[in-house]
Amino acid sequence: MITVTEALDALFALVSPLATEDVPLRHANGRVLARDVIAQRTQPPFAASSMDGYALKAAEVEADALFKVIGESAAGHGWDGVVGAGQAVRIFTGAPVPQGADFVVIQEDTIRRGDLITLGRNVGSKDNIRAAGVDFTKGTPLSAPRLLTPADIALLASMNIADVPVVRRPVVSLISTGDELVMPGEAPGPDQIIASNTFGLAAMLEDLGAHPRILPIAADTEGSLRAAFDLAKGSDLVITVGGASVGDHDLVAPVAAEMGMEQSFYKVAMRPGKPLMAGRLSGMPMVGLPGNPVSAMVCGSVFIAPLVRAMQGLPKTAAPRRNMTLAAPLTANGPREHYMRGTTTAQGVISADLQDSSLLSVLSTSDVLIVRPPSDPARAIGDIVDTIAI
Ligand code: AMP
Ligand code: MG
Repeated sequence: MITVTEALDALFALVSPLATEDVPLRHANGRVLARDVIAQRTQPPFAASSMDGYALKAAEVEADALFKVIGESAAGHGWDGVVGAGQAVRIFTGAPVPQGADFVVIQEDTIRRGDLITLGRNVGSKDNIRAAGVDFTKGTPLSAPRLLTPADIALLASMNIADVPVVRRPVVSLISTGDELVMPGEAPGPDQIIASNTFGLAAMLEDLGAHPRILPIAADTEGSLRAAFDLAKGSDLVITVGGASVGDHDLVAPVAAEMGMEQSFYKVAMRPGKPLMAGRLSGMPMVGLPGNPVSAMVCGSVFIAPLVRAMQGLPKTAAPRRNMTLAAPLTANGPREHYMRGTTTAQGVISADLQDSSLLSVLSTSDVLIVRPPSDPARAIGDIVDTIAI
């Protein structure tokens, strides 16, 4: 059996970044910037006031100084003149600082009578001016690749970039396998359950900026599985769920092999998730996930998320890990890397009591996976462990 790191490297070897497309700014959140873009303008484009007050000359600021108010500069409506000695211009936040002025006294530090203002005694030295270009200047790049966040979207808007070059969404086909499965909303027979994995994975894939397609459930027959693989043709990635073990009804490996899959690996030294397989089938990267719902979702976090990110041109790196303090002890781990479901509290992280890989109710109350190395000894409260956010 190979390690998780070896499996992830083998998966990365199956993919390369997809093509680029331009999308309107409003649709760029969560997508990966495909090439550097540059600011189309300088921000702010002029020296702007950061407060409501009076623009005047810094050299004239002193307690009780008197100024004549000769105009007004508001946001979107500057004042065209030049501020001279003993003069001030009423100014508001975001308005251009008029020529001749290099200081804004906030209105709370002034007393106004008619056209005259008198400064108070605590004006201080802060000029309350945002210099032109203090945020960015025309030509400043935003570098690719980059997973675009809401803050990036605001920045791109401010740079006057209305269309954003992003990597195309990977189309990912999801195939559930098993005679026992029916779709949510259908009426299961007495021996049947609802197919949940493909729905959880589709949600995860959507959050990753991919375009998931849930294909019809494949029954545990060769013909049905072949038909499902045929439907998946043309996808950027095909993921099967279940049927990946070595039971009599586990047909994914034999059918994929008959259809010409070049296998990269089969079985990974991890818990849950051992019967994981991957390879290339009909020109598509293919990943066979285990059927147990928690196994499928854990493999989604550990393998599929980094893989989909790599397909979008982000660096080929494992899911980010964070050190956390244990708020409850852990028993010794076995020989496989273990991804334990856990919950973070103010005191630290606590592993769930029940770790069976079929328990979606436990997964849904968990917010991290605690990563235990193979043969990790028992751990005490206060020990530091690696975690992956889920
Ligand atoms: P398998 O890998 O096909 O042996 O499946 C392992 C376990 O996962 C069995 O209990 C299956 O019923 C269950 N299972 C397989 N696929 C799914 C699915 N798509 N949704 C929910 N449970 C599943
Ligand atoms: Mg099955």
